[in-house]
Amino acid sequence: MSQLSPVLKQATPVVATRGEGLHLFDAAGRRYLDFTSGVGVTSTGHCHPRVVEAVREQAGRLIHGQYTTVLHDPLLTLTERLGEVLPPGLDSLFYATAGTEAVEAALRLARHATGRPNVIVFEGSFHGRTMGAAALTTAGTRFRAGIGPVMPGVAVAPFPDAFRLGLSLGLSEEEAVEHALRGLDQVLATASAPAETAAMFVEPVLGEGGYVPAPAGFLAGLRERADRHGILLVVDEIQTGFGRTGRFWAHRHHDGVVPDILITAKGLASGFPLSAIAAPTELMRRAWPGSQGGTYGGNPVACAAALATLDVIRDERLVDNAAEQGRRLLDGLRAVAAAAPGVADVRGPGLMIGNEFCHPDGSPDPDAARRAQQTAADLGLLLLICGVHLNVVRMIPALVVTAEQIDEALALWSKAVAASAAQQ
Ligand code: PLP
Repeated sequence: MSQLSPVLKQATPVVATRGEGLHLFDAAGRRYLDFTSGVGVTSTGHCHPRVVEAVREQAGRLIHGQYTTVLHDPLLTLTERLGEVLPPGLDSLFYATAGTEAVEAALRLARHATGRPNVIVFEGSFHGRTMGAAALTTAGTRFRAGIGPVMPGVAVAPFPDAFRLGLSLGLSEEEAVEHALRGLDQVLATASAPAETAAMFVEPVLGEGGYVPAPAGFLAGLRERADRHGILLVVDEIQTGFGRTGRFWAHRHHDGVVPDILITAKGLASGFPLSAIAAPTELMRRAWPGSQGGTYGGNPVACAAALATLDVIRDERLVDNAAEQGRRLLDGLRAVAAAAPGVADVRGPGLMIGNEFCHPDGSPDPDAARRAQQTAADLGLLLLICGVHLNVVRMIPALVVTAEQIDEALALWSKAVAASAAQQ
């Protein structure tokens, strides 16, 4: 008898048979409040009726229309519609399926367009599991141990983790940004000469690395250095995009910063595998012929799901809802943390919030995080863990979440945290 790979670790014991909005159901009919959204994917909730309808309709017309063989309407319409939400000037799109493929495409484009070999990433970064993206990933050795040598030409600069830098060096947020930018300048002076650096890849909020938002000023500092040295600024919005953080793109929290290449996936198609990179046409043109393609990229059904997703986000004002419910969730989680010394920091914009568990001396406490996450699952609230030290419990509900569902989650979380503390 065959079985799933034992290496595929399960965050919860749930076997889901159905999803609806914020809820998943198992075969016994037990209802779970899903604050994982399939790792930030089901932006419109599980099986939003408009997404389901669009997918059904499209599946009856054309399921596969390989995009270097034929073009199709969902792909062309989506390309037009994304123009309404993309940053100014990023008017050319290339589609793939998984996020990691889009990261690879951005990497190829950056090297082709600049003729430079190196890339700079930031501590705690996660950009994917394929070999190029894995080389850009520093969110934990678990993502690349034993698979190397990975792609050379990657230098790592500090990320301004304000909570950690506050604890260890007593720095304010502003000082943390200065510290990280000084570290970047040092990398450019010692490890990757500007003339050899094609791009900097950055997440506006570290995702797998622990839900650490880039404080004000950091992205602007990167933009300034990118402009000064002719380096491309690649913003990976795979986890942060599509309204998740209370703005359509998380980099919009950083006034005036426009990336050269933007990478999106996850929330884009409400669960269908679709990813994309966007760049100015002039830049995209510099990718070498043959470097962009793939069998499944821009799949018609996935594009139809993305179009419906855009409609739902607009019509149900989900970006505003993410901001509003995110504030409610953040306040509630901070109230829980105030009564639970093990939760040392609660942070994040919109509906992308991390709860960092630490020992009294400030060192990471992954066991407490795991206990709280597991207890929450037992109580019916599904959550995921992230962080370099696996000590951050993240909350990423669908953008359709209501105030009542936030309150229900907070009540369950409060019990889970108390139970975790009692088990210590
Ligand atoms: N980049 C970021 C910021 C991510 O969060 C992820 C996935 O979690 C990826 C890239 C990789 O995406 P995928 O798992 O679809 O390959």
